[in-house]
Amino acid sequence: MAGGDGTAIRGIISDLDGVLYRGDQPIAESIEAFKVWHARGVPYAFVTNNATKSAAQFAAKLERMGVPTTAAQVFNAVSATASLMQQRWQPGTRVFAIGEAPLFEAIEEAGYTLAGDDADVVVLGFDYALNYDKLRTAVRAALNGASVVVTNPDLLTPADDGFEPCVGVLGAAVTAAVPAVVPIVVGKPQPFMVEAALAHVGTGKSETIMIGDQVATDIVAGQRAGIRSFLVATGLPHTPVAGVTPDRIIANLRDLIDEVGAT
Ligand SMILES: [Mg+2]
Repeated sequence: MAGGDGTAIRGIISDLDGVLYRGDQPIAESIEAFKVWHARGVPYAFVTNNATKSAAQFAAKLERMGVPTTAAQVFNAVSATASLMQQRWQPGTRVFAIGEAPLFEAIEEAGYTLAGDDADVVVLGFDYALNYDKLRTAVRAALNGASVVVTNPDLLTPADDGFEPCVGVLGAAVTAAVPAVVPIVVGKPQPFMVEAALAHVGTGKSETIMIGDQVATDIVAGQRAGIRSFLVATGLPHTPVAGVTPDRIIANLRDLIDEVGAT
């Protein structure tokens, strides 16, 4: 039951894409590990930069793959974006968003008014129906002085058959067109979602680990939140980040099963 520095691991916070699954393909070793940890009563939660699904939808996907999960255990960029916006802008603020239904619902539930190129805030999220009109509206609003919020900084996301461009590409496009814009980035590597997940898991920082497949997002976010952060080699190829060293690198989660126990 020893972790990387000899302290017992009693709680788990994990990324989803590239750790539990790639696209719709479950990663067998990870599914097995979480099933065992659930049976042992180990508390766990998930943090994902993906903003195309609600927490309940992510929980349903994990349940279908065999990992018992409730919506309360999933922390994603949609809810984190709405929380951050509520700290900065009053209800009624005009918002133009690129994204999918869960993001629009969260923005409207937070009291904001959806608008066009007269928006005060532009929110950039993942959108499979991204098109030129949406990009033009975002750029025009930014030119008009709107603040820009990016749900997550990822440039690539793993899919069933390779990789897909992610929200970071959209943020890069808007900042290329409007260099004066300094986007506010919500998801990992900011520690906000990890801190919320840690509070939910309820274990202490020293006995909780963050698991992820990306150094620049998962490992940095976990370490900023003050917990040991393990890199697992089941997702995207590792991209080293200067000055950041994962607390441990593991081939797959089966290697970790026996080291994690309930309180
Ligand atoms: Mg990942």
